[in-house]
Amino acid sequence: MFTIAQLIFILGQQPAACAELIGSMSNASVMGMAHFYQTSKGILLLVQVQGLPTEVQSCGPTFFGLHIHEGATCTGTNADPFADVGSHYNPERCAHPRHTGDLPPLINSNGNALMAVLVSSFSLADIMGRTLVIHSGPDDFSTQPTGASGEKIACGQILPCPMQNP
Ligand SMILES: [Zn+2]
Repeated sequence: MFTIAQLIFILGQQPAACAELIGSMSNASVMGMAHFYQTSKGILLLVQVQGLPTEVQSCGPTFFGLHIHEGATCTGTNADPFADVGSHYNPERCAHPRHTGDLPPLINSNGNALMAVLVSSFSLADIMGRTLVIHSGPDDFSTQPTGASGEKIACGQILPCPMQNP
């Protein structure tokens, strides 16, 4: 696997793809960025989000489901603002959570989240132009076809990165 020095080098390069995550109308405080780095071991995905909804509670962490959806636009209806993202990206027609687009959930840290994960189940070509979606609840990794992860609270299309991004 990677040494820490190799990881720092990779994260210092221009990502191969980016997704700017924008909250829905009712989750307008949510904003974030996903960077996809092509590496020799697969795609290194780095996700940073702020403004996530927080709740007053005495128990442990809260999770937000994260998936790549097959659709190409973060548009929708009043009832489902990102309805046009469609289903989890699933070209092999497998069951959740073995969809190609299934990812580990984010963990809420006082409204912020930061996650890095190595993924070899898809290529950049597979996901370019599709959408990355954050859901309001945890993914139970069993309920079909979505893991019962609740409403879609933020969405971004996966695109070549803007030039000003590191
Ligand atoms: Zn899925």
